[in-house]
Amino acid sequence: MKGGRSLNLLVTGGAGFIGLNFVHYLLENTSYQITVIDSMTYASHPDEMQALTSNPRFRFKKGNIADKNDLNAVMDQQYEAIIHFAAESHVDNSIQNADDFIQTNIVGTYELLQHLKTGAANKMIHVSTDEVYGTLTPAQQPFTELSPLSPNNPYSATKASSDLLVRAYHETFNLPLVTTRCSNNFGPFQNKEKFIPTIIYRALLNQKIPIYGDGQQIRDWLFVEDHCKAIALILEKGTSGEVYNIGGGNERKNVDVVKRILEIMGKSEKLIEFVSDRIGHDRRYAIDSTKLQSELGWKQTASFDQSLVKTVEWHVNNFGASL
Ligand code: NAD
Repeated sequence: MKGGRSLNLLVTGGAGFIGLNFVHYLLENTSYQITVIDSMTYASHPDEMQALTSNPRFRFKKGNIADKNDLNAVMDQQYEAIIHFAAESHVDNSIQNADDFIQTNIVGTYELLQHLKTGAANKMIHVSTDEVYGTLTPAQQPFTELSPLSPNNPYSATKASSDLLVRAYHETFNLPLVTTRCSNNFGPFQNKEKFIPTIIYRALLNQKIPIYGDGQQIRDWLFVEDHCKAIALILEKGTSGEVYNIGGGNERKNVDVVKRILEIMGKSEKLIEFVSDRIGHDRRYAIDSTKLQSELGWKQTASFDQSLVKTVEWHVNNFGASL
């Protein structure tokens, strides 16, 4: 890709965990021009945005995608593509109060679609989640792109709503839209509220590590760098109107992930504390990425264990930074 076509991209939520990794990936591996719009919530990385502005291929605009004026301000040029990461993303917060989830995840996506209708970009990749499919029992087959949407918490309900809007805008207006649904990401820049960083930070401070319920919930883990590569590939080769699942092929029980991190950090399993389960807690997520592999040739490259070691090292080295 380096030295290839110089595409002009708008990345929403580019100051958050996955968006920021994606921006770094593109700046390092392509010659694309990138504009980020981000409202800079608690989950964003202001220092990184500041540091990146010295790169002539990067532009940052602070703005809320659900606000028409903010969005108009960033639509001052024609984009080859919009990569839409911006979201409220923490399930626990959505259970406390879903207002911001409705605004950003649903209204924000709608506002972007309105701009697509007027030709603001030649395509949009809408980044969604496997949580829209709901939950699986241990015996069930992983979700495919044809599995019904069955969200079980306010966060996943707002993501499913945005997926349906994207689908409808493709069907009704023939807009060039692709949806991706990925499993749980981990890696550098993830906010400390999320599962893996929480374990690392608490272990560093020798604090109790809370595990919801019996800890037997199963999640599929995707290293963020592999996710970024998948999105870059879909940007290049994805077919409009399609949904692509992006999974890590790493199904792990929550309690086993905690134990492995403690082992990497040389900490005692005595730090583990089982706490009452999250309401509406899905038992198992697993997705089938065969379509992405067979149609676009995507291959996962990272090993779960090596990526976990890298992730632990990154969080330990950046402990106390603006996370
Ligand atoms: P994140 O919470 O780390 O980052 C989200 C970013 O969006 C932040 O920088 C935030 O400031 C920005 N933002 C929030 N509201 C905004 C608004 N109204 N206008 C502009 N910017 C706004 O999230 P993440 O983990 O990087 O997730 C990115 C996307 O991937 C989300 O759409 C999420 O649903 C999806 N996803 C994430 C995971 C995961 O494991 N992290 C898994 C599946 C899907």
